[in-house]
Amino acid sequence: MLQVQQTMAHIIVLGGGPAGGATALGLKKLGYEVIVVTQPRPFKAVEGISERVLEGLRNAGFKQALIDLPAASPRMASWNGETNSANSERLINRHALDRGIGLDLQAAGIMVIDGRVDKVNRSDAGYVVAVKTDAETDVIQVISADFLVEARGRSAPGAGLKRLRGSETVSLLQYWQGEPCQPQSAAESFKDGWAWMAAWSDGTRYLQLTFDVVSANLPDKSQLIDHCNRILRTLPSAAPFLDKAEPSGIIHARTSTPILCREAVGDNWIRVGDAAMAVDPLSGNGIFQALSSALQAPAVINTLLQQPQRAALAKQFYQQRVDHLFYRFARIGRDFYASEERWDTPFWLTRRHWPDNQPLHQETDPNSLQVVTLPVVSNGLITAEEVVTTNDQPLGIWHLNGLAMAPVVRALQQRGIDENPQDCLQRVLELPPQTAAGLTRWLYQNRWLATQ
Ligand SMILES: Cc1cc2nc3c(=O)[nH]c(=O)nc-3n(C[C@H](O)[C@H](O)[C@H](O)COP(=O)(O)OP(=O)(O)OC[C@H]3O[C@@H](n4cnc5c(N)ncnc54)[C@H](O)[C@@H]3O)c2cc1C
Repeated sequence: MLQVQQTMAHIIVLGGGPAGGATALGLKKLGYEVIVVTQPRPFKAVEGISERVLEGLRNAGFKQALIDLPAASPRMASWNGETNSANSERLINRHALDRGIGLDLQAAGIMVIDGRVDKVNRSDAGYVVAVKTDAETDVIQVISADFLVEARGRSAPGAGLKRLRGSETVSLLQYWQGEPCQPQSAAESFKDGWAWMAAWSDGTRYLQLTFDVVSANLPDKSQLIDHCNRILRTLPSAAPFLDKAEPSGIIHARTSTPILCREAVGDNWIRVGDAAMAVDPLSGNGIFQALSSALQAPAVINTLLQQPQRAALAKQFYQQRVDHLFYRFARIGRDFYASEERWDTPFWLTRRHWPDNQPLHQETDPNSLQVVTLPVVSNGLITAEEVVTTNDQPLGIWHLNGLAMAPVVRALQQRGIDENPQDCLQRVLELPPQTAAGLTRWLYQNRWLATQ
């Protein structure tokens, strides 16, 4: 018999990965009652993270999730005929990471419901979300909330939203089991895509091949493993991962198409992490970018709820950052694809020029500096402040080490032709000599001041 259990929450977060988890922790700190609904991903995945991503996870407030992370292991990259083994990464089990995130949320006093989001209904009063908590029974949890955070990753429904998609891309994952070995990972390009492989000390090997959906001519499911394994056997860096090992389990397809949501926030909803923008896994930065949007979301939500008169400003702040981050990672990916010059197959041709031909970074032009009013985060809210924009920093810089930068630039722009910048900053802003000297050095190093 169908059983319905009712719960109320101020804010509901759908999905408890890094983005949903970080947003929920941020909202809890701002004093909101939050419910997170999540279920484990339906496939096993291994991902590589750098120390920078680990730092990001720590800063987001995760502790349990990080307790059992393995140490960094060597990473080999074979690209454009060259091999480099100078890098390392931590090989994480995504089920374990997501489980740890759930424990961190509970430790912070956040209710976590383990179940599948079945239906989301929107009304003037807010949201009503139906959650199936047990596949075997007909128990449905119905949660009413004023505000909805969509953090279901790439599987978040996007019907009706404007989205920009890169070349359709798929990653095929499989596990092999072999003898215990040194943990390690390797990436290698091939004619129709690229491979990422990882091995854990217990002998588990994880093999991931990424292809172009349109041109790969992939065989049907029954022959997919053989197809992938034929390619893997041609890759020199795959040898240690295949040695004395056998396939274990089935192959799983994961979509890895870059996607940008052109509308990532509304009056009573927001999309965070991969649900807002998902980048090409080539950059190995997916968790980092998921955290970036999630760390900004609580202040945006707080503004939408507490100061609805500033809704347009809060939305502008969030969407600009989501767009900016997406293009930054898309261009990093483009440049990395372009550095592999050996093949002109559709996989490489389409990715070398997408999303555009703009450089990743522009050298700062001292003449481009402008003082403008833009949204910033201040005390957990989005407010409008004077910031400094440059041709390479269109979102603006508000403070540097606690010092507002707009007055600095204004003072320099108004200084006499014979006055040196340090004297000017000391005189106008009454900065101590050492502070003015340090700031002047920074201004020259970052090309905010032209060297004579
Ligand atoms: C092939 C591939 C390889 C990658 N490799 C790396 C890598 O090496 N390093 C890296 O940093 N990033 C990597 N990424 C990217 C990384 O996985 C994501 O960017 C990151 O996990 C996004 O975090 P998120 O919280 O937005 O979403 P997710 O981590 O996807 O979390 C969403 C959560 O919502 C749950 N959920 C989904 N639907 C429902 C539902 N209906 N009901 C309840 N719960 C639901 C999911 O099970 C999941 O737990 C890779 C991505 C792909 C596709």
